[in-house]
Amino acid sequence: MTPSATSGSELRQRILLTLAERGPCSRRELMDEIPGNRGLISREINELRDEGLLEPTDRGFALTEEGWRELVRPSREYDYKNKPVRLSRGGPEVEAFLRVIRGESKSRTGSIVATTRCDMRCKFCYYNLVRDHVDLTPEEILEEARRRVEAGNKEVVIQGASPHTLGSDLVEAVKLIKSELNVTVGVGTGPLIPTDLLEDLREAGLDYLKLSFSGRTREEWRAITGRSRGFDEFWEVVAWCHRHGLEVTFVGGVVGLPGVPEEADAERVLSILRLNPNKTVLQFNPVQDPARGPLRPEKLPRIYELVRDGAPDDVIIKSCCVSPASWRPLYEVREHLDKVVCMLGLECEEYDGCPFTGRILEQRILNELYERGPMDTRELADRLRVSEERLHRRLKSMEERGLISRRGGRWVYERGG
Ligand code: SF4
Ligand code: SF4
Repeated sequence: MTPSATSGSELRQRILLTLAERGPCSRRELMDEIPGNRGLISREINELRDEGLLEPTDRGFALTEEGWRELVRPSREYDYKNKPVRLSRGGPEVEAFLRVIRGESKSRTGSIVATTRCDMRCKFCYYNLVRDHVDLTPEEILEEARRRVEAGNKEVVIQGASPHTLGSDLVEAVKLIKSELNVTVGVGTGPLIPTDLLEDLREAGLDYLKLSFSGRTREEWRAITGRSRGFDEFWEVVAWCHRHGLEVTFVGGVVGLPGVPEEADAERVLSILRLNPNKTVLQFNPVQDPARGPLRPEKLPRIYELVRDGAPDDVIIKSCCVSPASWRPLYEVREHLDKVVCMLGLECEEYDGCPFTGRILEQRILNELYERGPMDTRELADRLRVSEERLHRRLKSMEERGLISRRGGRWVYERGG
């Protein structure tokens, strides 16, 4: 049983958290849900309403924009600075990365890049590097979704930069996917999504909206995104979804920007667990340059350590790797990081030597040699469907570490390896 809330401020938090978790609730539902003196709970509800943190709706009390902001209020005043960010604009790594985010690379298997356009232009965002924009039609989005469903996905996420910039085409795409494929559909977009579009998306059957959480206060938002725009709209969208029964889920945006204290980054990421109390995955990314990797790698150990320490043990901590230059700083925080999502895949020169993706290939090689016996490089390459050249590099590295050996031109699994 949940212990009863003792102090007034605990009770306030409990009421706000309950509303975040359950959606709008009547006074009676809140009193039944929260342990403690019913008279005190009722009085606290009135106070929160008078302060403008809750408001009555036809579905019960709902959090207002201010109510949501109260839920994630920083524990102290941090000192933020809005410092500029300069991303590399050319070179093979940037080209490879642009191919992936424009959806032109086979490496990309996860969410659907429906458009590379966004109306925000956050200062760290690599979509700012795209020159020839991509906008998919509803039919093309359906096709992409179909491919993922055929590959076994039970859920598709239409992302981009910000797919709400597609307007009614996005609504059409959601309708098509729901009627043709009947899977869960999410849309990940920027904070400037208009509420009338949200209404249309909800009617089209959208299951949830995914937003990137770039700041709890105006100052924090400005230091992270580089602009004030989007802060008010973000909370309006959150409150709208809550009032209208559209699920909204949050990712932690970027951490490790110059001008943002490490503690503030970690606290912001952790506060997502108050916005989505049932969340089991915390995703956030170090701010990364597609060629140079994390901009301030020295900040990462502290941030990841604080997040890991503050998150419940069963919450998975996940980040994306966008560049061969990113693996080392991410590898260094592996103790606090449960999952790395590889953005570049086979586009990455490090792919087979990468500690995150290479391990998978190594495991497959060992399985093959163990189960089928000695094989030469060509046979192995055919079985694993990777190029001989790629395989060769990995096999050499495995040989050096004593995992496998070569006998008579064939690779052999080493039992002691
Ligand atoms: S809202 Fe998202 S996609 Fe748009 S500029 Fe900001 S980070 Fe990039
Ligand atoms: S292969 Fe490794 S280093 Fe390259 S992008 Fe993927 S995870 Fe990062």
